[in-house]
Amino acid sequence: MRSDGKIPVDGLLTRADHVLTCDASFRVFSPGAVAFHRGTIVAVGPCSELEERYAAKETWSLQGHLLLPGLVNTHVHAAMSLFRGVGDDLPLHHWLHERIFPAESRFVRPQFVHLGTLLSCVEMVLGGTTTFCDGYFFEESAADAAERIGMRAVLGQGVLNFPTPDVPDPARIADRVAAFLESFSRRPSRLTPSLFCHAPYSCTPETLQWAKDLCRDHGLLFQIHVSETAWEVQEIQSRYGRSPVRLLKDLGILDKRTLCAHAVWVDEEEIQILAQTRAGVSHSLESNLKLASGIAPLPAMIGAGIPIGLGTDGCASNNDLDLFSEMSLAAKIHKAAFDDPTVCSARQVLLMATQGGARALGLGGIIGSLEVGKRADLVAVDMDQAHLTPLYDPVSHLVYAARSSDVRHVWVDGVPIVRDGTVQNLDVSQVLGEARTLARKIRTALFQP
Ligand SMILES: [Zn+2]
Repeated sequence: MRSDGKIPVDGLLTRADHVLTCDASFRVFSPGAVAFHRGTIVAVGPCSELEERYAAKETWSLQGHLLLPGLVNTHVHAAMSLFRGVGDDLPLHHWLHERIFPAESRFVRPQFVHLGTLLSCVEMVLGGTTTFCDGYFFEESAADAAERIGMRAVLGQGVLNFPTPDVPDPARIADRVAAFLESFSRRPSRLTPSLFCHAPYSCTPETLQWAKDLCRDHGLLFQIHVSETAWEVQEIQSRYGRSPVRLLKDLGILDKRTLCAHAVWVDEEEIQILAQTRAGVSHSLESNLKLASGIAPLPAMIGAGIPIGLGTDGCASNNDLDLFSEMSLAAKIHKAAFDDPTVCSARQVLLMATQGGARALGLGGIIGSLEVGKRADLVAVDMDQAHLTPLYDPVSHLVYAARSSDVRHVWVDGVPIVRDGTVQNLDVSQVLGEARTLARKIRTALFQP
C-alpha cells in the first residue's frame, strides 16, 4: 500500500468503452478497466473504481477500445503457414497424400517448424489470438517460436504409425516423445506439452492407447483428428466395425483431457458419448468447408454441453489463422445449414473463441475470461472505425462486423506483446523475408519438377 492509499500494480488498462469479461455471468463494464500484477488479473470493474484503488507502473488509456480475453485457437498446425496456398481446391485425401505429405517429407525440419510457427505466431497475435493448441513435428522448435514471441501454447508432438519428418522409423516414436517431454522441463509455464495422434486411421489402437496412457501419466492433453470426413468414418467402420468416436470410447481414449478436432460426422449418440466423457471438440469450420469435409452439427453439440472451442486448422487448408473470420462464419453458416436463425448466437460463438476454447484445452481455470486470479491475457480492439459505427451491441460487432486487423494491443501474462498493431521483440520483416526465401525453394520443388 502506498502513502496515498493506492495499491501498486504492474498494469492498469482503463477507460475502455466496454470490457467483456466472458465469465459465467457474462459481465460487461461500460466503461471498464482491468488491473493486473505479476501477470495475474487482480481487479475487473468500473474504471472510476479501479483508478481510485490502484497505482500502476504502466497505465493504458483505452477510450474507443473494447477489451476482451485473448482469443484461443484450439486447433492449428502452425508451421504449415509455409505451405499456405500450395494445394487448393482439392479433396482432403488427395490434398493430404499428393501435396502435403510429399512436401512435408521434403521440407519439414526443425528450422522449417521454427520459421513457420514464428510466421503463424505473428499472424495470430496481430489478430488477437493469445493461446494456440498446435499439433505437428519437431514441436520443440514450435515451442521455441511461441516462447520468443511471448504467446501461450499447448504444443502437441505428432504421433503416427508411418514415417514422419522427425520419426523416420515409427518404431522409435517412444524415444522421440520422451525427448520431447524432457525438453519442457526448461520452458516457461505458459507453454505446455501435449501429444497429437494424427487420426484413428493413421494410428493403430495400440498406439492410441499408449499415447493416451502417457498423457494420463503426465497430466497432458491428448489431441486427435476425429470424424473429419465421411471417408474416415467408412474406413474406421470397415476396419473396426464401429465409428471413430465409438472406437475411441471403447479404447478408453475419451475423457476431459482429450481434444477431438473436427467431429464433423457424428450422430446423436456420438454427441452424447462426447458429452458424457467430457471430451472437448475443436470446431474448425473454414478448413471443413474448404476441403468439403462437411458441416459439423454444432448446435447439437452446444446443446449437449460439450466443451467446444474454435480452431483454424493449418494454413494449408484454411488459408489463414483468423479467429474473427471463424467467429463470423460459425455464427452464420449453422443458421443456414440448420434453417434456424436463432442457433449459434454471437454470444455463444464469442464464448467458444474464449472460455469454451480454454475449457476444451483444460485451461479453463487460468485463461478464457477476465476474472480475478486468471492470467492477464487480453486484447484491445479499436472500435473507432466506420465499419464498427454506430455501436449498439459490442458482442454483435465483435462477431459480425469486426476484423482481426482491428486489434490494436495484446497482452499475455500482463506483458504487451502487440502495441499499436506492432509485434514487440521481433523483427517481423525479417521473418517475412525468410519465409519468402524458403517459399521460393518450395515452389521450385513442388511446381517445377
Ligand atoms: Zn488439423
